[in-house]
Amino acid sequence: MARTRTIRTETIVLRHQVFGEADRLLTMLTPNHGKLRAIAKGVLKPSSRKTGHLDLYMRVDVLLATGRNLYVVTQAQTIDAYRQLREDLVRSSYASCSVELLDSFTPDGESNIDLYWLLEKTLSRINASDNLPIIMRHYELHLLEMVGFRPELEFCLGNNEPIQPEDQYFDAIAGGVLCPSCGSGKRNVWPVSMDVLKLMRFLQRNAYSSIQNLSVRSKIAAELEKIQLHYITVQLERQLKSVDFLDRVRSLSNNSVDNTIRVVQTANQFE
Ligand SMILES: [Zn+2]
Repeated sequence: MARTRTIRTETIVLRHQVFGEADRLLTMLTPNHGKLRAIAKGVLKPSSRKTGHLDLYMRVDVLLATGRNLYVVTQAQTIDAYRQLREDLVRSSYASCSVELLDSFTPDGESNIDLYWLLEKTLSRINASDNLPIIMRHYELHLLEMVGFRPELEFCLGNNEPIQPEDQYFDAIAGGVLCPSCGSGKRNVWPVSMDVLKLMRFLQRNAYSSIQNLSVRSKIAAELEKIQLHYITVQLERQLKSVDFLDRVRSLSNNSVDNTIRVVQTANQFE
């Protein structure tokens, strides 16, 4: 009989689903073992010692035993609960977007320590800061760079010339900016204003500490979001489910009970 190996690691819970009677199948991100799947046995029983330590988006210290096909969680201890990510619907929707984005761009079992810490810091920012759209755009650009999809924003993809301070075009398929002479009249390219491009370049080049107090006009923020999500959709060849959900949460102008219930029900579909 094969000897059981164990791993102790910290981890972030990306996804979970009910598995059998009282078990959960978890998708977790770890610093050194990448993304992995693990069964948490009995976790849905109120008496389980693991209950409450393995909820969505939590940062947890776990002991994993290697099973035949899956890991099994044998111990779990919360490091950081990021409570607001489960209690505040808007923050929860942003957390869901950030996790789905990472999940979509990462294969199982491939270690990427930088990516782990990027997600950890991003969840902690979404949990505690209010500049949510900027946190998200900064995260998207840095994640894309870490997984090899960095959009080119400095040089024209058509003629390699440095981009001048004027309105440009964005080619999501080619993965970057086209100058006015290369981009005009070309199919499937989007115009991008100089203000938006400047902001995008600033976010791409800088660490979070330099951008955290940035205040951006809502028109610019909206255009930036459209461009970046368009780029992500084209590169993934599909839309992120959580983005649609976030849109609905944000568009709730009134907090009527009906709307809230409908949104919470949709939220549960992602579990
Ligand atoms: Zn050009």
